[in-house]
Amino acid sequence: MEIYIDGTFVPEGEAKVSVFDHGFLYGDGVFEGIRSYNGRIFRLKEHIDRLYDSAKMIDMTVPVSKEEFAEIIIETVRRNGVKNGYIRPIVTRGAGTMGLDPRHCPKPTIVCIAMEWGAMYGDLYEKGLTAVTVAIRRNAPDTLPPNVKSLNYLNNILAKIEANYKGGDEAIFFDTQGRISEGSGDNIFLVKNGIIYAPHTLTNLKGITRDVLIEIAAKLGLQLKVVELGFFDLYTADEMIVTGTAAEIAPIVKVDGRAIGSGRPGPITKQIMAAFKTLIDSEGTQV
Ligand code: PMP
Repeated sequence: MEIYIDGTFVPEGEAKVSVFDHGFLYGDGVFEGIRSYNGRIFRLKEHIDRLYDSAKMIDMTVPVSKEEFAEIIIETVRRNGVKNGYIRPIVTRGAGTMGLDPRHCPKPTIVCIAMEWGAMYGDLYEKGLTAVTVAIRRNAPDTLPPNVKSLNYLNNILAKIEANYKGGDEAIFFDTQGRISEGSGDNIFLVKNGIIYAPHTLTNLKGITRDVLIEIAAKLGLQLKVVELGFFDLYTADEMIVTGTAAEIAPIVKVDGRAIGSGRPGPITKQIMAAFKTLIDSEGTQV
């Protein structure tokens, strides 16, 4: 595997960053997760835009233009011969002094990894995943806004650890006000009486696959509402869907041991998953 670091491609074993990089010392940096399908990069522009917005939120200037960043990503995919895979661009604050002040980090570090990677949840796309609600709350928007895709993923990792202990494939985060926020690495939708419901994005990542689902729903003529959702909505939903670049679009059929609807992937979920498959087979930036 060849990894891009700061202007050069190096073999995986030689891909190293400084221990004084604030990405390593403090989680000070941002990243993206992107998929490629059949050698085409899915929603590249949207991911680059979000990466730059994340950087802006933490007051960090990415040292290359968006066009140059797109080229870095395309070249990383090309060199590694990735067809159906996953791409991880990272921009850290860069190497600095020991203190956390970013003014002492002269230049951000850019890394890009691209590798083949198939379906994250294997046969669960057909069977459905189980989820558990977790005690840990999603970062409040006035602490570390969950909209920034930062290298500080400990909140998500704590949720994942809790889900692992509780025996769920995915964690469901609530915010500090008792509203459904998102999964540990994906956005959440509920379906009730034929209508799709999504939480507002104040307390979660503005998912690119979430936007794709919203687009698909509109194309299929399905009604979708963005509302506040709580435990009541969760436990009484007919269907539940998670969306994410890594997770793609997947059904959740059980939450906290309770069946969601029939306990099997529902008709609207299946319809959306089929439309998503058609979409990813038909678009993307050619490498
Ligand atoms: N929420 C979190 C916390 C995530 O890490 C991700 C994955 N990037 C998502 C939602 C889904 O976002 P996207 O569809 O853009 O991958």
